[in-house]
Amino acid sequence: AAKSNGRNQFSYFTRSMQQEAHTRLRLIGDLRNALSGNQLRVYYQPVIDLRTGAVSKAEALLRWQHPKLGMIDPPRFIPFAEESGLINEIGEWVFQEAARCSCRFGSRLGKPFQISVNKSPVQFMSRSEQVDWPEYLKSLGLPGSSISVEITEGLLLNASSRVTERLLQYRDAGIQVAIDDFGTGYSSMAYLRRFDIDYLKIDQSFVRDVASDTGDRAIVRSIIAMAHELGLQVIAEGIETAEQKAALIEAGCDYGQGFLFSRAVPPDEFERSLGAA
Ligand code: C2E
Ligand code: MG
Ligand code: MG
Ligand code: MG
Repeated sequence: AAKSNGRNQFSYFTRSMQQEAHTRLRLIGDLRNALSGNQLRVYYQPVIDLRTGAVSKAEALLRWQHPKLGMIDPPRFIPFAEESGLINEIGEWVFQEAARCSCRFGSRLGKPFQISVNKSPVQFMSRSEQVDWPEYLKSLGLPGSSISVEITEGLLLNASSRVTERLLQYRDAGIQVAIDDFGTGYSSMAYLRRFDIDYLKIDQSFVRDVASDTGDRAIVRSIIAMAHELGLQVIAEGIETAEQKAALIEAGCDYGQGFLFSRAVPPDEFERSLGAA
């Protein structure tokens, strides 16, 4: 019995591995048509001002509405988009969508509304990022302050002059910059001074136990204190409970994002929620 059990387990294992490889190949193939086939969506998650509780801005988060496999989250397909180079085209489309929605949400509110877009390191470093931002923003009818860009700390450790150049171009166009998933990489405080960064986004892995774990709370507190000393604002990611929110407010955190407030939702729903506020 043990033997046949083992064999079953083995065949189950290989079958699921085969399936996974199959799905992977399928996603890689299908991704080529996702943009032209109108299958990509940009959802918006509110960023809350923790002092007032008001919606302050939003993050644009990509979704793939696959015709057969349903809604697919970015970690499952962004790596393929990066490998194939499709990320540049997709990233540009996300940017345009976010710009359009910033105008739309802004006119609903009667004041400018900032939307942040995630920029993968591959896209950030590619030639297609060599853009005349002021000119491009003008063509979209948008002030630079209505867009911010989220990059990861790894990029800043790479001391390439291209990184410096790109960041200066953003700054000159009025586009703000956030460091996403802060604390998970090789966090070096030095680069926060060297580059003109506006926001730190504390990774959700530190937020999870911020209310219960004194170690995590100490880390969060010192990130916030340091950021404020350097003139940066702090956004906490992945707030799911009132206890986490309270601990973050107590630590002096400026903004928060998370399921406690809202998941990322389609633009129509986001706009309705602004109207109701
Ligand atoms: P991220 O930029 O750090 O985004 C935060 C992720 O956490 C999002 O997952 C969001 O839905 C999720 N999240 C928000 N609040 C909570 C919460 O309270 N609890 C939990 N458990 N999760 C929460 P999502 O949308 O699946 O995106 C995952 C990652 O994919 C993003 O991480 C970002 O790195 C990347 N990504 C998303 N959109 C784009 C895009 O347009 N371009 C690029 N290059 N990357 C993107
Ligand atoms: Mg992000
Ligand atoms: Mg993050
Ligand atoms: Mg700045």
